[in-house]
Amino acid sequence: MQVAEKAREGGFGAILFDMDGVIVDSMRHHADCWIRVFAEHGVSLSAEDIFLREGMSGIDSIVDIFRSKGGRVPAPDEMRLLQERKHELFERRPIDVFPGMEEMLVYLAGKGVVLGLVTGSLRRSVGHVLPAGLMGLFRSVITVDDIENGKPHPEPYLKGLHDVGFPPEKALVVENAPLGISSARAAGLRCFAIATTLAPVYLETADRVFPSHAEFYSYMREIF
Ligand SMILES: [Mg+2]
Repeated sequence: MQVAEKAREGGFGAILFDMDGVIVDSMRHHADCWIRVFAEHGVSLSAEDIFLREGMSGIDSIVDIFRSKGGRVPAPDEMRLLQERKHELFERRPIDVFPGMEEMLVYLAGKGVVLGLVTGSLRRSVGHVLPAGLMGLFRSVITVDDIENGKPHPEPYLKGLHDVGFPPEKALVVENAPLGISSARAAGLRCFAIATTLAPVYLETADRVFPSHAEFYSYMREIF
């Protein structure tokens, strides 16, 4: 049973990777910057408030945070300024690729797996956090600038799937956030999750949950 399951999973022709919290160790920086910007607006946030909303577009998460904290929702111009201030803070920070991730991507590409990137970040943020050498490994890069409905809507992953040119049963998603997992599931895709920002209990709707990148790498090397 387990052997058959592994053989089936090794049959994926394409893998669509989320970026923040999966490829790059950026979420603590995103959280720090949001916490600072919201504090300037009198709203106190925890890192978990950000991690649980990961995948939403910037403006959607701003609205959702103001609503959940019982405050007034700012006018669109004020929200754009708030988002711009957060981007400025974020773009000053150096962001690291998770150790071993580049080797993993090169390994998978070497096995003939087609790679795609599907992120809730802006295209300009992808340019900031992703080294050019890594960008070249992805056949498709879908950002929030390319879609109308962000995660948890299925559109981002459906668009990525269309770009890599595989049917849903031949594609796998790798995520770290509950809304990203929902998006992948709504698109009809299998989804593995790595518990980098939230405890595994938050990720249980994924098909497999790995407690760390090390466990994820070792499983992928077993099935591919
Ligand atoms: Mg993520």
